[in-house]
Amino acid sequence: MTNPSKTPGAPTGARVADFELPEDLKALQATVRAFAERELAPIAAGLDAEARFPREAVARAAGLGLLRVTVPREHGGSELGNLASCVLLEELNAVCPSTGVTVSVHNSLACSPLAKWGNDEQKRRYFPRLITGEWLGAYCLSEAGAGSDVAALRCEAKRAGDAWVLNGPKLWITTGSEASLFIVFARTSPDRNKGISAFLVERGWPGVGVGKKERKLGIRASPTVEILLDNVQVPAANLLGQEGQGFAIALDTLDGGRLGIASQSLGIARACHDLIRDHLETIRDDKGRSSGGSQAAQYQLADLAADLDAARFLTWRAAVLRDRGVRCSKEAAMAKLAASRLCNRAARSAVAILGPAGASGAAERFLRDARITEIYEGATDIQRLVVARGVLGG
Ligand SMILES: Cc1cc2nc3c(=O)[nH]c(=O)nc-3n(C[C@H](O)[C@H](O)[C@H](O)COP(=O)(O)OP(=O)(O)OC[C@H]3O[C@@H](n4cnc5c(N)ncnc54)[C@H](O)[C@@H]3O)c2cc1C
Repeated sequence: MTNPSKTPGAPTGARVADFELPEDLKALQATVRAFAERELAPIAAGLDAEARFPREAVARAAGLGLLRVTVPREHGGSELGNLASCVLLEELNAVCPSTGVTVSVHNSLACSPLAKWGNDEQKRRYFPRLITGEWLGAYCLSEAGAGSDVAALRCEAKRAGDAWVLNGPKLWITTGSEASLFIVFARTSPDRNKGISAFLVERGWPGVGVGKKERKLGIRASPTVEILLDNVQVPAANLLGQEGQGFAIALDTLDGGRLGIASQSLGIARACHDLIRDHLETIRDDKGRSSGGSQAAQYQLADLAADLDAARFLTWRAAVLRDRGVRCSKEAAMAKLAASRLCNRAARSAVAILGPAGASGAAERFLRDARITEIYEGATDIQRLVVARGVLGG
């Protein structure tokens, strides 16, 4: 891109990177910010207290088109892509991280792999219900012995005529009790990586059950459940991608998912930054003049402001790469690593600086919600390993 002439004194013809969102994404950002303030702010604390799934809010988000951004236009999507998804997720998560992760999982872990690896028949069958929110999607990879080490998974899929028979429990499945379509990863042969395949499994099929619901520290309005697969007959037509491609699909999908969690972290970090800023603006000196609080608190606010911009640039850079079809495992891991650590620090600062008010209310909820961002879709040390592998060229 050439340098815009509106910058006085800028060298003409200089090449610059564009750090501004395009106009359509600025409009999306403003729309979702207003939606989150209007629809989520009044209910977020209550949803958390009651661990109640935000069904109506998610339906309204679908009405705004927020569940179709990673879906191709020919299947009813807006095809806005990963950067758009990051922008809207930051806004939702700045108010209600439980609603935010629901939309993130639906867009990045269910619709995205269907768009990328699904065939036309599968897309025609599932997208009409996924874009309206009539059906929500969930991603079933983790098992008791297979979290960080996903290739250790044991859920088995055995071929029987024109079907696959799936058996084995899946653990910690976000939206599992509410979703109607599951992307399930199962073992189709003993080979550690190439023996894994991905399947599109409908909630209503015989043998698909919902097990224990987890009682959690944070994102309490996002249900995390066990999904039980007991002799589930999956038509051969519901294999996603090729047999043995599941490991590659799982990892590629997680690159996009990590951008969703990085955006969740940005939303939480921004909300905590704003709580601190608003609090410091109320502080007055003994003459009644606005003082902005102690220097120590201002240092923390300044660090958060700078680190928030840095983490956002990392996240948006990786999203742009993914939208261009460039592999971005290292960049997505960097984004999640930086943003998830930042939001935990931001939440701790908010609780400390707000004083007694920080121990209850929004800061306390964000402190609890922040913790999960360093666990799911690859814990912090796993992100560091992915980055190190990329840096070392492995
Ligand atoms: C609320 C919640 C929602 C979730 N939603 C989903 C979902 O929708 N779908 C899904 O499939 N899964 C989901 N998960 C599972 C989640 O992705 C895993 O918990 C996560 O990947 C960590 O795996 P694990 O729990 O087996 O921990 P472990 O793999 O046992 O890791 C425990 C610790 O050991 C560290 N560690 C492990 N291996 C290494 C290594 N090689 N080097 C350095 N450190 C290492 C990790 O960093 C971590 O700190 C969810 C989890 C939670 C808590």
